[in-house]
Amino acid sequence: MAGSLVKILLIEDNLAEARLLQEFLQQADAKEFVLVHVKRLQEGLNQLRTNNYDIILLDLTLPDSQGLSSLPVLISCAPSLPIVVLTNTNDEELAVEAVREGAQDYLVKRQVNANGLVRSICYAIERKQLLETLRQVNQTLQVRVDERTAELVKANEINQFRSEFVSMLSHDIRQPLNTILLAAGLLQNNEDKLTQEKKRNHLQMIRTAIKNMAQMLDEVSLIGRADSGKFQCDLEPLDLEIFCRQLVEEAQLSLKDKNLTLVFASYGGVGEAVLDETLLRHILGNLLGNAIKYSLPNGKIQFELIGQENSVMFRFQDWGIGIPKQDQKRMFQPFQRAENVGRIPGTGLGLAIVKKCVDAHGGEIMVNSEVGVGTTFIVTLPLIKL
Ligand code: ADP
Repeated sequence: MAGSLVKILLIEDNLAEARLLQEFLQQADAKEFVLVHVKRLQEGLNQLRTNNYDIILLDLTLPDSQGLSSLPVLISCAPSLPIVVLTNTNDEELAVEAVREGAQDYLVKRQVNANGLVRSICYAIERKQLLETLRQVNQTLQVRVDERTAELVKANEINQFRSEFVSMLSHDIRQPLNTILLAAGLLQNNEDKLTQEKKRNHLQMIRTAIKNMAQMLDEVSLIGRADSGKFQCDLEPLDLEIFCRQLVEEAQLSLKDKNLTLVFASYGGVGEAVLDETLLRHILGNLLGNAIKYSLPNGKIQFELIGQENSVMFRFQDWGIGIPKQDQKRMFQPFQRAENVGRIPGTGLGLAIVKKCVDAHGGEIMVNSEVGVGTTFIVTLPLIKL
């Protein structure tokens, strides 16, 4: 509504009625009205699509639309426009129903006069504007409520995760602590009775338990750093093939216990790549360590480095115990272990760290595993070549 100029779309098939309304509007001096008259609903819709109006005056008996069925079509075409329906003396009930369904007001033809028409038009426009404002406020409020609810759900999840994390951490630290207490107590109380070999064994148990605890604390602090966003990629050029071969070399000793064979192969000529060496060591070290730990005696492990156009792929395949399908997804969360690990030691933190390190590089990790058949982990990292 520009100033006091009101643009009206009249949809009315009766020419005499239309003329009468036009005359009434011309008598009004408080406002200036521009009336565009069409005879069919379809013409009205065309007008609404191409021109701006302030209000619609709608006859409920049109050649191409009868009764209330015109209303929803007009409302969906111009949801913010007020509608005043025009009815005959004998269908006032229909008019009331129209107001219930979204019209702002109704006028009974032949009873209407100039003042009544102008009052109804102004009132309908005001009312619709108020409704629009309310609808917008409502919408803004709804968005805020949704945002706040999402925040609360997230905070709740974080709190729940935190308390689970703490209880699992204390449980996992208690285990090596108990070992230390037990072994130290045995050493203290049976000093004279223990053979040198037994004493050495107990001391070794203490050392191993302390080592495990220290490793767990390192891993937890690593995850903490990643979660608080302090985990940044410190990129440097790295010869990936040399790096992988070194890793294989370092793993040789741990293969002996179970008489495992580790086969390394490199494809695609990766050469030098820009990656974070420490994070890469966590990724590859953990995956290789797991392949060794969860392999069966005399088994084989295949480690492949595959250079692709814009990425590099690290593939670890073992023929070990496998991961049950239902456990595979949650393995990347801290302290999660599959149900088939039995007495194989572990904290359930390794894969969570691997995932964080892969994420920090903007890469991806995939697992393919079957119980009793074996497991393949594939890490793909985007490659910045020098
Ligand atoms: P951890 O080995 O200390 O338990 P990880 O986070 O490294 O913790 O691994 C989580 C779990 O995923 C393991 O407990 C094990 O159930 C499963 N898993 C990981 N790698 C393998 C693998 N190569 N073969 C079988 N299971 C595996």
